[in-house]
Amino acid sequence: MPPSHILPVLLPYPFKEPFYYQVPPELEYESLRPGTLIIVPLGSREEMGVIWEKHSLPKGISLPEEKPKKINKIKSIISILPIPPLPTILLEFIDWVAAYTISPPGLVLAIALRGIQTYASTNVPKSGWILSDTPIDTIRVTPAREKIIQFLKDKENPFTTGFLTDALQVSSSVIQGLAKAGIIEEKLLPYHCPFLEPDPSFHIPLLSDEQQEAANFLSVKVKEQQFSVTLLQGVTGSGKTEVYMQAIATCIEQRQQVLILLPEIALSSQWIERFEKRFGVKPALWHSDLTNKQRKLTWQAVINNEVSVLVGARSALFLPFTHLGLIIIDEEHETSFKQEEGIIYHARDMAIVRARLSNCPAVLVSATPSLETLTNAYHQKYHHLTLTARHGGASMPDVQVVDLRATPPHRGLFLSPPLIIATQQRLEKGEQVLYFLNRRGYAPLTLCRACGHRLECPHCSAWLVEHRRTQRLVCHHCEYFIPIPKECPYCDAPDSMVPIGPGIERITEEARATFPDAKILVMSSDSLTSPKATAEAIRQIDQKEVNLIIGTQIVAKGWHFPFLTLVGVIDADLGLSGADLRASEKTLQLLHQVGGRAGRAHSAGIVMLQSYLADHPVMETLVKGDFNEFMLQEAAERQMGFWPPYGRLAAIIVSADTSDEAMQIAYELGQNAPQMEGVIVLGPAPAPLALLRNRYRQRLLLRTQKHIAIQPILHQWLSSVKAKKSVKIDVDIDPISFL
Ligand code: ADP
Ligand code: ZN
Repeated sequence: MPPSHILPVLLPYPFKEPFYYQVPPELEYESLRPGTLIIVPLGSREEMGVIWEKHSLPKGISLPEEKPKKINKIKSIISILPIPPLPTILLEFIDWVAAYTISPPGLVLAIALRGIQTYASTNVPKSGWILSDTPIDTIRVTPAREKIIQFLKDKENPFTTGFLTDALQVSSSVIQGLAKAGIIEEKLLPYHCPFLEPDPSFHIPLLSDEQQEAANFLSVKVKEQQFSVTLLQGVTGSGKTEVYMQAIATCIEQRQQVLILLPEIALSSQWIERFEKRFGVKPALWHSDLTNKQRKLTWQAVINNEVSVLVGARSALFLPFTHLGLIIIDEEHETSFKQEEGIIYHARDMAIVRARLSNCPAVLVSATPSLETLTNAYHQKYHHLTLTARHGGASMPDVQVVDLRATPPHRGLFLSPPLIIATQQRLEKGEQVLYFLNRRGYAPLTLCRACGHRLECPHCSAWLVEHRRTQRLVCHHCEYFIPIPKECPYCDAPDSMVPIGPGIERITEEARATFPDAKILVMSSDSLTSPKATAEAIRQIDQKEVNLIIGTQIVAKGWHFPFLTLVGVIDADLGLSGADLRASEKTLQLLHQVGGRAGRAHSAGIVMLQSYLADHPVMETLVKGDFNEFMLQEAAERQMGFWPPYGRLAAIIVSADTSDEAMQIAYELGQNAPQMEGVIVLGPAPAPLALLRNRYRQRLLLRTQKHIAIQPILHQWLSSVKAKKSVKIDVDIDPISFL
């Protein structure tokens, strides 16, 4: 017997490294290569795994090596799945993401296998048999074998064991004998590919000169089939989508695959409709609402190169594309591209890594690019395309600040007189108005008028938010809720609980009283609970069935509402308080995007920002509209302190069941903080959300100068403390949330 082959196999679990398995003699060693999907024993279970090998990692990072065990202890691979091997680029990408985010590669692999993971041993994709190229004279041909060979001759499609045993009256052992001898081989049964090929010339729009120039540039990049990054920055309503659709068309013509990342697929009904108008068919989708069956079909179609355009959320980056020719990240500034749980990664940044590994162009699209992206464009690391005019001659909205110190709302109310008058005028003209307030529910705080007691979540450091529609006080961080109390739970004073501050339910109540004839539509994650509900809301706006829309950040997405001419921002200051490094940047982006919904067609639009901080630079910038100038000034400030993008940042969040445990480990980390030039540790300090879902949280922040790789420092630092299993240490590289 030849000596066993031993191979590293990565399993989709939080293991730091691959395990070693041997290839039993009945499996063909030559058919195994990195990426091959196999079934292996793990404890008493059978699990799906992937043959692995080490790949190139981010600069300065290496993975720990597992020493192979004694050969007689190494278990054998059970079977090989009849699925094409994962593409090498995907394997490299998984290792890269794991190393960069300091996560177990197995957990990253789990994201990549989400399409077929339900297929472990008991449920492998259906396959059948075809004749192989092995000459028949290498075996003894019995009559039963002869029947099978004759039947399969000239047949391209495979036939299952069940079919062959029934139809030819042979036993399954005959089939296995032929397989072992290599005369027949397993092949996946053909399935109906659910995706139609988009037609690149189905409906080609007439582009403006400015659009055409940008589209041509992107098409050239696609044709080059080389890694590049381009920022497509265009004012809201400039038709950025139409421009990059042209690049998609070029990529389809080249028979390569396109991946488009959108921040929230559930809010993308208009986008999908537009794609269909342009290319005649719907694109393939990848998001969390897919059924297992849809997921499996899509995953298979991607690996078989039968999908040319796929639109997805973050995790689509981990699909097994074999011919990726273009990645587009629309609304690249959106913070929802950051995955905050499990593997903590930024889909925009990882998309660029994926494009580099795939040697294809990436296009970042936004009216309000992130500081990181804008800086890269200014330093000419990225190409920078600019669209300055709105499509069809529409003008940019006129942005005004309503100074609430000068024209405050009536006591206990939230709509200022100037906003009420402007709303009245627009509604009378038959136009649509949008009120934006980024707060769900009725009121963010409930307190006792008698004793001042504030109602807090017992499990989180957060106030309970009143939701009047459901008659509850709800914690927005966990599932906790209570009925709205009649008396103060602290001092028992009757009828003393009062709501403080507005949520959109309260604004809706006020709007109903102020504009009794308005047809109001509320848009928040409470009212739009499914993509279908969202699509219906959008339809009502398109058909002018409603004229006053009141919404949370959902309304700030890339919607195109032609009849909308007035946007009222109820509280423009919300978001500017707090110690968030990106508070100004995020507020500016959000408000600019919301404002960008106004006046996108024939009638000019206005944006009214209700604010107590009328002189704040963010308000001034919104009025003047010079977004980039503000951002470059921000950048200059960050450069001085080596803050991102001029330095590297990693947040460490220590959480535990008791405050003491969390503090102890955080303190130890503080004691062992790396002492190096160009490296600074801030903290430990209680997180702003010091208690979250019953876990006490402490934070530390590690900041290094740009040329210092942060991962090796973290590895060493984190291994210097030994924490109990109940204490969790999460690492967030390039954090964007500081809660
Ligand atoms: P942006 O994403 O830049 O905010 P959109 O892509 O949503 O802008 O374009 C705004 C509107 O103008 C959309 O309804 C879009 O279909 C339309 N549009 C843009 N460019 C063209 C064009 N060249 N021909 C026809 N319609 C266009
Ligand atoms: Zn809570």
